[in-house]
Amino acid sequence: MDTPTEVLHRVFGYDSFREGQQEIIDHVVGGGDALVLMPTGGGKSLCYQIPALVRRGVGVVISPLIALMQDQVDALRALGVRAGFLNSTQDFDERQLVESEFLAGELDLLYLAPERLRVDATLRLLAKGDISVFAIDEAHCVAQWGHDFRPDYLELSRLHELWPDVPRIALTATATPATHAEISSRLGLEQARHFVASFDRPNIHYRITAKNEPKRQLLEFLRSEHDGDSGIVYCLSRSSVEKIAEFLVDNGIAAVPYHAGLDARTRALHQSRFLREDGLIVVATIAFGMGIDKPDVRFVAHLDLPKSLEGYYQETGRAGRDGLPASAWMAYGLNDVVQHRRMAMEGDEAHRRRQVLHLDAMLALCETVTCRRIMLLDYFGQKDSQPCGNCDTCQTPPESWDGTVPAQKVLSAVLRLARERRQKFGVGQVVDILLGKKTAKVLQHGHETLTVFGVGDDLGNAEWHGIVRQLLAQGLLAVETDYGALVLTDDSAGVLRGQREVLLRRDTLRPARAKTSSSAKAAAQVELPAEAAPVFERLRAWRGATAKEQGVPAYVIFHDATLREIATRAPTSLAELSQVNGVGENKLAKYGEQVLETLREAP
Ligand code: ADP
Ligand code: ZN
Repeated sequence: MDTPTEVLHRVFGYDSFREGQQEIIDHVVGGGDALVLMPTGGGKSLCYQIPALVRRGVGVVISPLIALMQDQVDALRALGVRAGFLNSTQDFDERQLVESEFLAGELDLLYLAPERLRVDATLRLLAKGDISVFAIDEAHCVAQWGHDFRPDYLELSRLHELWPDVPRIALTATATPATHAEISSRLGLEQARHFVASFDRPNIHYRITAKNEPKRQLLEFLRSEHDGDSGIVYCLSRSSVEKIAEFLVDNGIAAVPYHAGLDARTRALHQSRFLREDGLIVVATIAFGMGIDKPDVRFVAHLDLPKSLEGYYQETGRAGRDGLPASAWMAYGLNDVVQHRRMAMEGDEAHRRRQVLHLDAMLALCETVTCRRIMLLDYFGQKDSQPCGNCDTCQTPPESWDGTVPAQKVLSAVLRLARERRQKFGVGQVVDILLGKKTAKVLQHGHETLTVFGVGDDLGNAEWHGIVRQLLAQGLLAVETDYGALVLTDDSAGVLRGQREVLLRRDTLRPARAKTSSSAKAAAQVELPAEAAPVFERLRAWRGATAKEQGVPAYVIFHDATLREIATRAPTSLAELSQVNGVGENKLAKYGEQVLETLREAP
């Protein structure tokens, strides 16, 4: 029997374990149960794949991501791991084949959709085989009310009764203490060892910029920092997804839309193109991304504010799984706050309270003048982190300024308008009044006679929008659900009476770019030596052609990180090539000669 480290080197071709992996693997190999909390991209898969390879029998992986099973199995087969899956997409013959492989002990790993375990025939099949470990992936499904797979996941607690001697490992990237506790009790894992990895993703550069012309800002971000890269752009609505995708295509950028309003075939096609093609962008609603383990997603951009930090962290976590530098970029503005404040007021009391808490945490991240990463990690229970040096606020600390007087101006304008019973007014009217603009609407309502008319002409339109946004974010202003009119809150009075100071953040429209980062660990890796760049491109072309021929995503052949290392080291023999991180035994045998050949070709 190989040790876990030997399997890591031989099969996966990796030099060393990532943080947490070895402990978890040793524990499960020894027969212990485990509950693993690790961020997206942290390396959860190896935590059950290696025990499945080291222990006798077949590792059974429960995963709800049916659409991705084929890719997962293909990726394992490319490594020489004997993997198969059973789900509803297969016909009878395909299922039969996998079942007989399972019974003959010809599989190392078997992926199962959770609903399969509710079928007696599946349980009977499993009972006839030899199982090394049960892995329960995406374990938070058991804790999320209304989750499609929740009923099936609740049944998984039975595995332990049926197979008391087979270790179970449950894994999730959702880290809040409430979810953690619920997974543990629902799956009967109270006695299991709990592994909580660091939630930091140091290679991701976080940046939140003030939104003024979102399309232009997105285009500039893509052109200046992510030319030709794969990435995801998240939007709130289906219609904005369509519009942005079209806008990018019009500007010569390869992009496809993805949202729940598209038919299943189009969705599947766009997802599969994203996984297979180099440099494609998916513009999507949050319907996209669960389980997408494409390692070379170089950026995740948000054009609208996510509803919660959990959502934001999951979504941005899809960038840079390969450990190379990646960006999480968001444009955020006044309308986001207005819209979300209104949405948060919908539903019953308990629901509203939850929404408001989530939104406040999200807004606090957007408006912070300190390190974004510290705030994120703190939210996920990791206290006492140090400033990261790889986020916009660390790199260009925003100035904060005493905004008490402008805040008073805004609040008193809102107060004056609120006295008019007949009509409600939104942000636009408030700002026009402060600026002293005699618009038709101002004149119609006689607002030019208000004492606050024109008191704000020392600042511009954008600044006033920024101030209103921050007052909303700080809860010193609110919006009415019905018309989006601005209204005062309980806390406004203190500001109006001069009993409370208001600290504001000076918006920077052009904050630091990821490339200027100094302490980002991974940053050094991104610049290939000049002579290696064309070699890398050649290798990439070879990989693209090979992937196409075999009908698998390019990263199944080799990751970008591996190709970069090959290009830099320029190995001249198979022995040298085998030293590269990500080149295991099977891939060396399969692609080694072709890689050396590609390297030998004249540039
Ligand atoms: P998760 O499931 O936690 O989101 P994955 O298991 O998909 O993460 O791993 C993320 C990426 O990191 C994968 O591309 C994987 O091949 C790579 N990876 C995992 N462990 C290691 C390691 N020890 N060394 C190098 N790369 C690794
Ligand atoms: Zn930072």
